[in-house]
Amino acid sequence: MLTLKHTNLLKTQCLVGLDSEGSDTNELNDGGWVSADSGETIKVTNPFNGETIATVPILSREQVLDAVGVSKKVQPIWANKTADERSALLSKWADLIDAHKEDLARIMTAEQGKPLKESRGEMDYANSYIRWFSAEAKRIYGDTIPAKNSNERIVVLKQPVGVCAAITPWNFPAAMITRKVAPALAAGCTMIVKPASETPLTALALGELALQAGIPKGVLQIVTGKSKVLGEVLTGDERIQKLTFTGSTEVGRTLMAQCADTIKKLSMELGGNAPFIVFEDADLEAAAEGLIAAKYRNAGQTCICANRIYVHRDIKEKFVDIYVKQVAELKVGNGMEEGTDLGPLINQEAVDKAKDLLQSSMEAGATLNAGGRPHEAGDLCCEPPGITDVTQNRDIANTEIFAPITAIMTFDDEADVIQRANDTIFGLAAYFYTNDLARSWRVCEALEYGMVGQNTGAISNAAAPFGGVKQSGFGREGSKYGIEDYVVTKYWCQKIG
Ligand code: NAP
Repeated sequence: MLTLKHTNLLKTQCLVGLDSEGSDTNELNDGGWVSADSGETIKVTNPFNGETIATVPILSREQVLDAVGVSKKVQPIWANKTADERSALLSKWADLIDAHKEDLARIMTAEQGKPLKESRGEMDYANSYIRWFSAEAKRIYGDTIPAKNSNERIVVLKQPVGVCAAITPWNFPAAMITRKVAPALAAGCTMIVKPASETPLTALALGELALQAGIPKGVLQIVTGKSKVLGEVLTGDERIQKLTFTGSTEVGRTLMAQCADTIKKLSMELGGNAPFIVFEDADLEAAAEGLIAAKYRNAGQTCICANRIYVHRDIKEKFVDIYVKQVAELKVGNGMEEGTDLGPLINQEAVDKAKDLLQSSMEAGATLNAGGRPHEAGDLCCEPPGITDVTQNRDIANTEIFAPITAIMTFDDEADVIQRANDTIFGLAAYFYTNDLARSWRVCEALEYGMVGQNTGAISNAAAPFGGVKQSGFGREGSKYGIEDYVVTKYWCQKIG
């Protein structure tokens, strides 16, 4: 089933550079696929049926340290290529990803469970970042500044930050990688990626295509293994100048603390708890459709999923009626079957957490309006539950649900709903539906979030800056701002006479 042609994908190997003894090459052609020194492996399973589909190496600390050495060695050589050369190689990589889109989508669905149509969509989305930053490579501008004295000149250079490391989650096995690798490589940095242990195959396949595109060995390395061991090297090694992390706020905190000793530049794309507000003047059909998009993508396992739904009391019944009918049409099952809308959750722990949240909400007086039972399609599948009369102080309103549970609350006025929407440690994405212009500005400005969607449930786009505030993190991915995370500013003061 894993059909990416001409790859080493099923040989239990990682993509790392090899520093050949004594070589002082400028060719960047050392390295390739390696196995774990110990021979130990991690099983990768299909969450739909529990089958083991591949194994990947558990690299040793020493092997990862070697990878850092290679990254350090090749970084200045990569940075020395012209912007046009780096851009062309990124473009070639994107062409190969397009050419292998179907294979990559099937690999992703096999290891992650999401429906094929979503995996195909994610491959397009992931690739849009490579194309975007392939173009941005040519637009990394510096500055000149009027000097204080006539015999001085002030110049500002933007230079690559150096060796970068990325640690990424399982929910978007391709896009969370390309959003980091593409700007890093465009800027002249090298990158070591540690993908999530649940979904390393998509990452390795992307690495193979990068090699086929001619991106020199050692510029992009992909390492797998025990997260604690790899994390300690990637956060503690002083040769690495930047860590970019996408994942939970809890792990993000730990990694930030581990980076403190070596004062790394950081980007943190962390958890969310998105409010989705439906005002009384909203187009309810459109709002229901937007909520389906924002809630059920990836079976509710996205960082920008609508988590707390606030509906104005006057329209609540009508809205729930429309929404429940739309939810009933969603097809739950095997992501590999065309037509599936919701695949399985990633693992049993995720299912148990969803059950607990649902049960405690029901005990606190919530009403079940739809779904809520296990689904016959598979152990990790469930009928998407919709619940109303949820109270703000319950776990479900304060936790990142990460499952296809729609938790609906009611509100009476704008000030109250804004206060409740902001009453969380998170600040990633927020959504609201209204056609009132003055209210639109008031609400958008008052929401303490990095991203706001109005009258839409789909906001991700390579041209736009993706990222959060508060404990959802910092740094931006995509857009003209995204390159800033991979460059440093050098001020040059020149006395010329
Ligand atoms: P996670 O548990 O934080 O894991 C993310 C990555 O961190 C995985 O590669 C994991 O490795 C690694 N990791 C865990 N503990 C580590 C440690 N002590 N040292 C080094 N690495 C460590 O998150 P997840 O469950 O994969 O993903 C879901 C979370 O990601 C949600 O909170 C979601 O909101 C967030 N997310 C945020 C964004 C955003 O852009 N803001 C986007 C997508 C997802 P192993 O897999 O090997 O354990």
